[in-house]
Amino acid sequence: MKIQFLGAHNCETATTRLVSILVDDILALDAGGLTSSLPIEAQFKLKAVLLTHHHYDHIRDVPALGMNALFYETSIPVYSTQAVKDALASHWLNGTIYSNFLEKPPESPRIEFTVIEPNKAVTIAGYEVLPVPVNHSAPAVGYQVTSPDRKTLFYTGDTGPGLAEAWPGVSPQLLITEVTAPNRYEAFGYRMLHLTPGLLKAELLAFQKLKGYLPQVFLVHMNPKQEKEIEAEIEQLSDELDTSITLAYEGMIVQL
Ligand SMILES: [Zn+2]
Ligand SMILES: [Zn+2]
Repeated sequence: MKIQFLGAHNCETATTRLVSILVDDILALDAGGLTSSLPIEAQFKLKAVLLTHHHYDHIRDVPALGMNALFYETSIPVYSTQAVKDALASHWLNGTIYSNFLEKPPESPRIEFTVIEPNKAVTIAGYEVLPVPVNHSAPAVGYQVTSPDRKTLFYTGDTGPGLAEAWPGVSPQLLITEVTAPNRYEAFGYRMLHLTPGLLKAELLAFQKLKGYLPQVFLVHMNPKQEKEIEAEIEQLSDELDTSITLAYEGMIVQL
């Protein structure tokens, strides 16, 4: 399984992109930095764009994908929960802000949206995709993706404390989760439902207790302004837990 981090941050600048992860060139996890990262041919190779929740930094490129599909007379398959589809339809692809690619053209909408149910696995291009609810300030699911050769990752999307409630349903070899801010922002983490290194530690210890192992961990959604501070705290946590925890970056490729 090839995992390519297209965007790994919660703010966009000339050197950072919003969260998007590409699996084996055909599955995209979140759409914060997809269109700016991928040549047009690669965009049309996607078998699924899997959205975790409706916050801007995760759905940002859905309208752009729709516009590309319009001009190339094709469609893009997007999957998420009903809540995400409703948010896109009412706030964004509503005919005012942008064209309603969810319904146009009626015979083959440019955004070919499939509503998925939490905890119900679907098979996409031979991959088993399991949406698992996570604790965030909008309805959110993480995705466990299992390849045909049984490599398994779990991407949590944005999550706060309480992520451990997702653990019984997943058994990844590789975990992609978020750390948005350093430890001094713990109160913010509880309030806005994001993780700091300290809050992540509690969730990982719960994983280890339940499963008897720790997966290798990659982090996204870092605030670029505080990244050095996060990095130092994560290095310490990685030593403490004796496991590999790595901050992802734009362009990073991991083979599982
Ligand atoms: Zn969010
Ligand atoms: Zn976010």
